[in-house]
Amino acid sequence: MKIAFIGLGNMGAPMAANLARAGHDVIGFDQADVAVEGVEMVTSGAAAAANAEAVITMLPNGQILRAVAGEVIPAMQNGAVLIDCSTVDVDSARAVAQQAAGAGLLSVDAPVSGGIGGAAAGTLTFMAGGSDTAFSKAAPLFEIMGQKAVHCGEAGAGQAAKICNNMILGVTMIATCEAFALADKLGLDRQKMFDVVSTSSGYSWTMNAYCPAPGVGPESPSDNDYNPGFAAELMLKDLRLSQQAAESADADTPMGQIAAILYEQFVEHEDGLGRDFSAMLPRFEKRSRP
Ligand code: NAD
Repeated sequence: MKIAFIGLGNMGAPMAANLARAGHDVIGFDQADVAVEGVEMVTSGAAAAANAEAVITMLPNGQILRAVAGEVIPAMQNGAVLIDCSTVDVDSARAVAQQAAGAGLLSVDAPVSGGIGGAAAGTLTFMAGGSDTAFSKAAPLFEIMGQKAVHCGEAGAGQAAKICNNMILGVTMIATCEAFALADKLGLDRQKMFDVVSTSSGYSWTMNAYCPAPGVGPESPSDNDYNPGFAAELMLKDLRLSQQAAESADADTPMGQIAAILYEQFVEHEDGLGRDFSAMLPRFEKRSRP
């Protein structure tokens, strides 16, 4: 397949390299000067998209996605599919899908879970929104870049699933960190706390697989001085997207709202920028009850 890949950063570069390694003909564009093994770089998104059967985007946010889509969609050939794998707001995902449909093109919003490790290993999970035809056209590419793809519904459904998942993740990480900080102050040994909670009703992915306490549980960013992993500012971005969506859908999400406020405080007014999102634990440890 002839594939255009736009946005070859931490995630996009290894994803594009996997497609090239699988034998696809991959043409890339990034506004930064990047080189990716097996990918031929060109000087604009439109040039990359012109002869492609699939155009994949992996960009920082919805505003940039809208700008890139505005340039790329008119250049795409009939019957081609636009696959956006970035994490963006649901409204931008739907606007881009509408624009693609207006131009007679197929499109899928397909954000991912699995981080840069999953992108490199080809083990991402894709959550996709779009028509059955668009999903079937994209599915063989998801199979190369990931281990699982769930067709969640119509345009925007993939982004909806992604931000709901990450809202749970942010809230759960905070709950896990504040419980550890409380346990510390009650004189409870951290390993004992882990042994109990990880096999009791308080268990979660953040406790069992990504424990924020160093030296406890499987290896995680806390064991590497809280280097990301998944940076606190990316968690803040996703929590803000969840609250933006909740606002436009009139959904009551008080825990998600508080999580967004806490990560904003951590990233913008404390030392959270550039640290893993589990570094909420040392933050709580230092504090007293307000
Ligand atoms: P990144 O910043 O490393 O990569 C983004 C790339 O897009 C950069 O190379 C940048 O130069 C390029 N770019 C920006 N504007 C452009 C434009 N107008 N035209 C062409 N290229 C442009 O970010 P990333 O970590 O690769 O994340 C990409 C997306 O994936 C984000 O939406 C992020 O939320 C999501 N995501 C990231 C992770 C992760 O662990 N890093 C996990 C899941 C989802």
